[in-house]
Amino acid sequence: MVTQLVVITGPSGVGKGTLKQRLLEELQLPESVSATTRSPREGETNGVEYHFLSREEFEKRRASDQFLESAEYAGNLYGTLRDEVENRADGARAVVLEIETRGAEQVRDRVSDAILIFISPPSPEELRRRLVGRGTDSPEQIERRLGEAERELSLQDEFDLVVINDDLESAVSELVQAVRGKLR
Ligand code: ADP
Ligand code: 5GP
Repeated sequence: MVTQLVVITGPSGVGKGTLKQRLLEELQLPESVSATTRSPREGETNGVEYHFLSREEFEKRRASDQFLESAEYAGNLYGTLRDEVENRADGARAVVLEIETRGAEQVRDRVSDAILIFISPPSPEELRRRLVGRGTDSPEQIERRLGEAERELSLQDEFDLVVINDDLESAVSELVQAVRGKLR
């Protein structure tokens, strides 16, 4: 792959989306818009937060090798389309992906110079507080996501860097500095 990839991973609710947004602004990098079979949340628009696909369409694209990585997470499919990364790159130094850990492991195994950053919560209790406080997921989805989080947290040492998102501004500076230092 010609464009370098910056992968932000970690459990749901840890602050990946928040940190990714700050990283995009600070370093003026494009992001890849993922595909998912999850239903749009209120306020989400097709092609902006995600490309929302039916399971059938997702499976069809997966069978024809259109995904760089994909994974089932909390009952839905998520994946990065190869075309999306190539189109967004458009001369940029790197493209940023915000994905869960199974997908991040696939990128690590397939793309040798990807920069892989795991975002960790200050505590499990704080992770729950953030997921509940965000107010976007049903109680059932929150429990599923916290179940996934236990597994995901046990994998953090597999990545290039772990950033603990306790104080947001400190986490942003650590992330920006680390990515700057690792860009080709
Ligand atoms: P993710 O993308 O990992 O699911 P979000 O970026 O949506 O997580 O963040 C989950 C919630 O936690 C949001 O309501 C966000 O505003 C909040 N949040 C993010 N970072 C922090 C932080 N450092 N301290 C307190 N709350 C935070
Ligand atoms: P959400 O439903 O909260 O938008 O996302 C659930 C999880 O899926 C989050 O951890 C998010 O980072 C992850 N995710 C989003 N897009 C992708 C993707 O393209 N691939 C993978 N593997 N995970 C993704």
